[in-house]
Amino acid sequence: MNWSYAQNIITGLVSLVKGMQVTMTTMLTPSPTVEWPSETAPLPPRFRGHIMLVADESTGFARCIACGACSRACPSNCIQVIGEKPEGVKKKSPTLFQLDFTKCSLCGLCVESCPVAALAYSRDYALAGPDRQVYSSMDLLTGFASPLTEQCHEL
Ligand code: SF4
Ligand code: SF4
Repeated sequence: MNWSYAQNIITGLVSLVKGMQVTMTTMLTPSPTVEWPSETAPLPPRFRGHIMLVADESTGFARCIACGACSRACPSNCIQVIGEKPEGVKKKSPTLFQLDFTKCSLCGLCVESCPVAALAYSRDYALAGPDRQVYSSMDLLTGFASPLTEQCHEL
């Protein structure tokens, strides 16, 4: 056996051990992926889902006073707000709050411009559907009772 033949065998063995080392390390490292949708990875605390209305803790109504500041601040014209004053109350309440999420860039200008902190980001990340209409006119008042009717906005 000549020297270069022995050298080739040694190089091959070293490379085999290195390869096995990488394989073993990967095998023993916990996987960062999850079996979605049965499992969900934790969302980062600053995750931004679509915007949503925040409830007033004391009344359960939407905190929004229908001032329209968010709608004016939105560079993509995604928000449509209409409001009315309930009888004997100084502030307006929204009767319509619609979001066109298909145009939203999640810039956050609406959230920052709200004078009463009535907007927040949802934690909804798995939005998908065959019909874009569902996302082009999202009714953000869904599930909120209204002081104008004391009725829940229809789901
Ligand atoms: S996050 Fe930006 S683009 Fe989306 S609705 Fe708010 S202001 Fe408009
Ligand atoms: S800025 Fe705030 S209070 Fe004014 S309409 Fe938008 S969500 Fe409502």
